[in-house]
Amino acid sequence: MSTPRRVVVVGAGMAAVRLADGLAGRAQVTLLGEEPHPPYNRILLSAVLEGTHAVDDISLRVPDHVDVRLGARAAQIHRAEREVELVDGRRVPYDTLVLATGSIPTLPPIRGLVRVDGRLDERVHAFRSLDDCLRLDAAVPGARAAVVVGGGLLGLQVARALSVRGLDTEVVEGGEHLLRSQVDGKAGRILARDLRRLGTTVYTGARAVRLTDEGLVLDNGFTLDTDLVVLTSGGRPSTALARRAGLTVRRGVVVDDGLASVDDPVVHAIGDCAEHGGRTTGFVPPAWEQAGILADRLAGSRATYAGSRTVARLRASGLDVAVLGDPEHIGGDVVEVTNPVLGSHRKLVVRDGVIVGATLVGDLSQIGLITQYYDRGTVLAQTEPGALLMAERPSRPSTLPDDAEVCACAGVTAGRVRACTSLEDVRASTHATTGCGGCADSVRSLLASRTLEGITP
Ligand SMILES: Cc1cc2nc3c(=O)[nH]c(=O)nc-3n(C[C@H](O)[C@H](O)[C@H](O)COP(=O)(O)OP(=O)(O)OC[C@H]3O[C@@H](n4cnc5c(N)ncnc54)[C@H](O)[C@@H]3O)c2cc1C
Repeated sequence: MSTPRRVVVVGAGMAAVRLADGLAGRAQVTLLGEEPHPPYNRILLSAVLEGTHAVDDISLRVPDHVDVRLGARAAQIHRAEREVELVDGRRVPYDTLVLATGSIPTLPPIRGLVRVDGRLDERVHAFRSLDDCLRLDAAVPGARAAVVVGGGLLGLQVARALSVRGLDTEVVEGGEHLLRSQVDGKAGRILARDLRRLGTTVYTGARAVRLTDEGLVLDNGFTLDTDLVVLTSGGRPSTALARRAGLTVRRGVVVDDGLASVDDPVVHAIGDCAEHGGRTTGFVPPAWEQAGILADRLAGSRATYAGSRTVARLRASGLDVAVLGDPEHIGGDVVEVTNPVLGSHRKLVVRDGVIVGATLVGDLSQIGLITQYYDRGTVLAQTEPGALLMAERPSRPSTLPDDAEVCACAGVTAGRVRACTSLEDVRASTHATTGCGGCADSVRSLLASRTLEGITP
């Protein structure tokens, strides 16, 4: 495959910027972003809401050569002419087109969210974009109480941020426990306890059904008196543009192992909007993995995408959660330790000695080793899974073997961090610490131990 001259990317989010970075110096890249803001790290929106990060802190670094057009919403793709038409009628020609349109929030079926004039009730907020975040941020000082609808990863992030900002915060989750897509009831209950300890009320097994002047009415008869309602429970891949262009869309834009549309070899899709092997993703690690592979392919390599392992990590103050694979649905022997006193629940699903899924709540000290065993399919001795879970004391990152993964977002190992000379070098050459930031302490510790080794005679 020869290097494309013009790569046009619809979307200027997490996947698009990673792709542009991978194509640096290898193609002429244009990002078309509908949002008015320069590209930013979406994972850190809750940190902006919480007040620990300024908007400037979450900007994504875009390579110099990239033409980033902001406020540029793509309205149509003219595949025969190989042009993208923007809402203002301007056309942008491409040799290769990449759809990285992400996902969009959906409204849950709650009566009263939308007023008779068709606008959202002013108490109601989505939390997907920087504009959503800034609007909610502006509403916080005048508010006393908030209800977060949805007890998933996003809901817990937002609830923690609002609680840290001093609001009486309640979470409403229709399922029987929090994080029901990722963890079991025991883990969900530990999390609910943690949230309550941190001052947030949690209602599980309860659905919000109506928003009235008195507040948000639940199907269990409660009415929650609130100034703000934040919707975090629904979202789906943003595929309208692809559908209009006649591309095959199921849940996401259907792509093959080369991340190309199954209908058009010069149109690709990556990130939340793409569907590969019957699966859509919704997390940064697969979006970045796809972007890296596509960048290599567009530069001439024959790399293929075989699907990503699922790693979910919660980024929220005072709550630590990591889930590897799909521990609730994959079969195997379950080895678990629950310690409600310490607020931890750790579970490994083991098949033929291999860890095929894991849930860690409240204690992520063994995450590096467990991820390494999981990734490599290491066959463990009978006593090892239990021993891994019984260790209450953190294992030091500096003792991790070189091939242990440290940064789940960018898939970076301890060895790659050790090969760097500084935190700046780590960020620029591996992208570790630039996603959720959960690996920052481990990276610092690895760099520090490297420095110490360097001065040891
Ligand atoms: C608040 C929040 C917290 C999150 N936290 C985590 C986390 O802790 N860990 C994790 O792994 N994942 C997290 N996610 C999910 C993660 O952000 C996404 O998986 C990731 O951003 C996907 O990247 P993407 O490029 O596919 O989509 P996005 O980053 O959403 O970018 C898509 C961009 O395309 C633009 N766009 C859409 N249509 C058009 C069009 N027609 N024309 C022009 N532009 C268009 C959109 O406006 C958007 O800017 C979080 C998401 C949110 C909202």
